[in-house]
Amino acid sequence: MSRVLVTGGAGFLGSHLCDRLIRDGHDVLCLDNFYTGSKQNILHLLDHRYFELMRHDVTFPLYVEVDRIFNLACPASPVHYQHDPVQTTKTSVHGAINMLGLAKRLRARILQASTSEVYGDPEVHPQREEYWGRVNPIGIRSCYDEGKRCAETLFFDYHRQHALDVKVVRIFNTYGPRMHPNDGRVVSNFIVQALRGEDITIYGDGQQTRSFCYVDDLIEAMVRTMETGPDFTGPVNIGNPHEHTIRELAEKIIGMVGGSSKLVFKPLPQDDPRQRQPDISLAKEKLGWEPQVHVDDGLRETIAYFRRLLGK
Ligand code: NAD
Ligand code: UDP
Ligand code: UDP
Repeated sequence: MSRVLVTGGAGFLGSHLCDRLIRDGHDVLCLDNFYTGSKQNILHLLDHRYFELMRHDVTFPLYVEVDRIFNLACPASPVHYQHDPVQTTKTSVHGAINMLGLAKRLRARILQASTSEVYGDPEVHPQREEYWGRVNPIGIRSCYDEGKRCAETLFFDYHRQHALDVKVVRIFNTYGPRMHPNDGRVVSNFIVQALRGEDITIYGDGQQTRSFCYVDDLIEAMVRTMETGPDFTGPVNIGNPHEHTIRELAEKIIGMVGGSSKLVFKPLPQDDPRQRQPDISLAKEKLGWEPQVHVDDGLRETIAYFRRLLGK
């Protein structure tokens, strides 16, 4: 049994990670400031004797005793991270410094939830870890993209300078139950719109692409990365390489939900990447991992979750 800290543990991915760690028999400290996460996501764990919830903001120092740290605290959807962009950068940068300082004092292993956004609007396709990315430093997505890039820099500097045992995973678009219904991400938006019989809002012409990974597959990869030997730091891409246009996704969701929703086209947000697909060769080699859940099955689970949530 390890004592594991999960920052952002009341969020979408964090809550699934807490479930998994508790199931694996660990002693879990879930930390969150509830900026985008919710107690609802972890209510079912509160009575568990090896689960502990702590309200805290990672931009402030934290003194606890743990063996492993998963650093997930950061709003992840454009709507949320652009709402208070200064706080978004602080969360990534000050949060990383504090969690790395904590890991250094404890000699604990620490994993950073980085993102495919470090590749920006990529001119290399699919994206491999060696690619340095094409990121606008001053745009509306920069608080998130550059914050996450700086966090990666800090992780590798603590690794080189203080011999810290670090892991960096670059997460590509992930979906599943417990996504926030109003966070503006494409999968939750389209499902909620379809269930309510509202128009499906496609930004731009819908020909931009994303590759969607089901949450269970992603959590498996994160846990495996944490358990790799100290000579493996990543960064490692984790995501599902199966790529869809946004229009295809909309049509698939309408087909699965049924109902009378129509497609409507809205302006494309600034700096919206045209294409994104992970090259997961490194994850296959180092983690022996690849996604198992077909998008139809993952969407079915996610639609069922939103049906319950919305009473539809
Ligand atoms: P989420 O918004 O559901 O979860 C983030 C959690 O962090 C929330 O519970 C929020 O309240 C908490 N948080 C935010 N700022 C905090 C702070 N200053 N102190 C303490 N807690 C704070 O998002 P998610 O999708 O679960 O994302 C989790 C992590 O994975 C994020 O770091 C995100 O950048 C990364 N990620 C997610 C995706 C994805 O597709 N879901 C893709 C790439 C990277
Ligand atoms: N820190 C923390 N918990 C700890 C140890 C450190 O939150 O258990 C914070 C501390 O406030 C500091 C940051 O982590 O600002 C970086 O710590 P480090 O030891 O790397 O740097 P220093 O304290 O020398 O600035
Ligand atoms: N998108 C869309 N309609 C929506 C929400 C998003 O067409 O209601 C598009 C968005 O412009 C982007 C893609 O879907 O091209 C994925 O958006 P999301 O915010 O989920 O993730 P990210 O852009 O961060 O990959």
